[in-house]
Amino acid sequence: MAVAVIGGGWAGLAAAVTLAGQGIPVTLFESAAQLGGRARRVEINGLALDNGQHILIGAYRETLRLLASVGVDVAAACYAPPLTLQVAPAFYLSAAPLPAPWHLGLGLLKSRGIPLRDKLSAVRFLATLKHGAFRVMPDISVSSLLTQHRQSPALNGYLWHPLCLAALNTPPHLASAQVFVNVLRDAFFGTRDDSRLLLPRVDLGQLLPDPAARFIAAHGGEIRLNQRIQRVALAAGGFALHGDHGTEHFAQVICAVPPFRVADLLEQLPSLQPVMEQIGAFHYQPIYTVYLQYAASMRLPFPMLGLSNTLSQWVFDRGTLSNQPGLMAVVISAEGAHEALPHAMLAERAARELHEQLGFPAQANWTQVIAEKRATFTCLPSISRPDNVTPIAGLFLAGDYTACDYPATLESAVRSGIQCALAIQKALQ
Ligand SMILES: Cc1cc2nc3c(=O)[nH]c(=O)nc-3n(C[C@H](O)[C@H](O)[C@H](O)COP(=O)(O)OP(=O)(O)OC[C@H]3O[C@@H](n4cnc5c(N)ncnc54)[C@H](O)[C@@H]3O)c2cc1C
Repeated sequence: MAVAVIGGGWAGLAAAVTLAGQGIPVTLFESAAQLGGRARRVEINGLALDNGQHILIGAYRETLRLLASVGVDVAAACYAPPLTLQVAPAFYLSAAPLPAPWHLGLGLLKSRGIPLRDKLSAVRFLATLKHGAFRVMPDISVSSLLTQHRQSPALNGYLWHPLCLAALNTPPHLASAQVFVNVLRDAFFGTRDDSRLLLPRVDLGQLLPDPAARFIAAHGGEIRLNQRIQRVALAAGGFALHGDHGTEHFAQVICAVPPFRVADLLEQLPSLQPVMEQIGAFHYQPIYTVYLQYAASMRLPFPMLGLSNTLSQWVFDRGTLSNQPGLMAVVISAEGAHEALPHAMLAERAARELHEQLGFPAQANWTQVIAEKRATFTCLPSISRPDNVTPIAGLFLAGDYTACDYPATLESAVRSGIQCALAIQKALQ
């Protein structure tokens, strides 16, 4: 009997690619008409866009390895400048040409827009984290950590809060300091390349789902789109998957659906109650992407620019990145006042902010708002995340929400899928 993967997001794809690559028969069920899940291509006005602008960083080791394994040339598929953070109106930081972490240390000291005492205090903060082996015990909120280390409002506004929102998709007063510090550790204290921003030049479908699907098919795996699994039940020799298209049996199952769908599939299985309670305790945070189309000549000085004291947090120039001239993608991570605005008003507001801060025209030619209401779980201090291995032999959980020292990201999703596949491979040996 083959292995079933339920869910064709990045976690499920990572699992299926790993299994197929090992010659293990795998069938992937995806309820939607396309692969990718929360990181997928959407088509708007004839343009291939994304359900949300995504960024990767050089420290996403498993994701980069996975992309390479399915034949993606990451250097061609992503714009990968050395770490550069530009936040309007005044902040500019660029990594120095030195090994990590000196590239950031000197970059901070040479940064523009904050006074020298703030630069020194940021460097001291990072040095203290390293000295403490990047452990925050007990875990507290990011805001409390920043207060403990006397980070100024300017540093918070230009640097730490934007990084926290971008990485954890959770407001600093709620976000886990430990997970934030894990991200700082991996991005800034590994190699210089780990801190590189990787901004996709292709739509998210082309980045992983399309090549992964080709890889899985070429290695004997099967992908079934538009096939929702309704329930997983125990059966002789494994599991029965009850779906839209009948019931099928598998020896091993990787459940790679988003956390808020796990209970639909697994609730009635004995011995999973504690896991269901763990997942049931999650809260969720939104991510809004506002696409604004201007004349083709409109460009940003750098393809990713931060804004401060605005609803808009980051703006990406899809002209420079993806050859979609004049198209800007404004990203607003986590909960906030923007959620109360109707989409048309939110788009107007984003356009006004780009007009006031960056000199763009007062109005865009067309706009489109994509609201992902449950983009990620709220990454709270000491949050308990379920393991990939469940108490039921042969049943695994994959997804960005499973146990990992990273927040809910492409990397945590990919790592979880690979973990599950490797556990199955080991069990079959
Ligand atoms: C707008 C937005 C912006 C983001 N930006 C970033 C970023 O910049 N960098 C970053 O690293 N991360 C980012 N993330 C997070 C990242 O996209 C997610 O962590 C990751 O995509 C989660 O993948 P997953 O496979 O765990 O889950 P999902 O992507 O949710 O995949 C689960 C799949 O299961 C399918 N499914 C559900 N129920 C069933 C069923 N019953 N039967 C069959 N299939 C089913 C779903 O259709 C879906 O395809 C962002 C997320 C969003 C929403």
